[in-house]
Amino acid sequence: MRAAVFHEPGKMVVTDVPVPDIEADEILVRVRAASICGTDLRILRYGHFKLPPGRPRVLGHEVAGDVVEVGSQVTGHAIGDRVSVTPNVGCGHCPRCRAGLNNMCQDYEAFGVTIDGGFQEYLRVPGFALQRGNVFRLLETLSYAEAALVEPFSCCYRGQRAVDVGFEDVVVIIGAGPIGAFHVMLARTAGARKIIVANRSEARLETAARLGADVVVTTSRTDLTEVVLAETDGRGADVVITAASSPDVQAEAVSLLGVHGRVNFFSGLGQGGTVPIDTNKLHYKALTLTGTTGSSNADYAQCLHLVGDRRVRLDQLVSGTFTLDDIDDAFRHASSGAGMKAMVVFDGEKEDRP
Ligand SMILES: [Zn+2]
Ligand SMILES: [Zn+2]
Repeated sequence: MRAAVFHEPGKMVVTDVPVPDIEADEILVRVRAASICGTDLRILRYGHFKLPPGRPRVLGHEVAGDVVEVGSQVTGHAIGDRVSVTPNVGCGHCPRCRAGLNNMCQDYEAFGVTIDGGFQEYLRVPGFALQRGNVFRLLETLSYAEAALVEPFSCCYRGQRAVDVGFEDVVVIIGAGPIGAFHVMLARTAGARKIIVANRSEARLETAARLGADVVVTTSRTDLTEVVLAETDGRGADVVITAASSPDVQAEAVSLLGVHGRVNFFSGLGQGGTVPIDTNKLHYKALTLTGTTGSSNADYAQCLHLVGDRRVRLDQLVSGTFTLDDIDDAFRHASSGAGMKAMVVFDGEKEDRP
């Protein structure tokens, strides 16, 4: 079978490898779609602290496909099942795992990091991933590509739960890439009164508007603070979500908040340093500052239904479709900042679902 194997920062090679053998407690999934995430781009560029130098690994953790082999001890899965997986497999016994927060487990395994991921034709799902609930059956309405996108979408859902968007809220989303776009869809679904999306360049704002943003702001040209004050009668934003990895954006996010405002620092800064915060403002305006990372299996299950019931259409965000042999082009597309999501599809996967 074909697999895109990451060897070291800057080096990923598409090559022939044996189809994985499975143990009695495992399943084998024929991958049908796998999308590229910022994390994949970062690993290709810098490696990952859980990936020892020189250890080959297949990246990709946003993935869906068909079950083609089922180990003799496995129950609840059958050949032909359409499935997707969640990347982070918790240890199963730490306090975070016991609370259902597999995304916060410090002793985790992950597809595309410590377990081979989606950028290959066949994916072996280890027994512990099955047992800890990381494999999900897909609704018939969901295409494989959409199912792959439920993973990053569910991380955004977790972020929005932290700021509890309601019907009276003016929501500001800074960053109009795929993550910003998912946040627009979720804020719309939550019934936000007004959604303002800001981005440095104009290119992606058109998509944000199409997905339901009421106001779009090109911050290289227009002052975001002025727009937010004008759109809120001087009150400031109820909710701000950062979907851009920048200390300046994080500082600005807090400054845009009105009384009882809530911010979700969705995008991390990597090694990007620290951000000064006006704690007096935090005190007198009674602000809430939140950060989230990843999503739990429960978040994912919720989103699988939201998307499967066609209440949001994630397929709109696929801006480039590539074969595994063209994965370099797919990575280039994903890092270009021009498109939205790059999708690797297998066997000329072309679906037309309702
Ligand atoms: Zn991801
Ligand atoms: Zn754990």
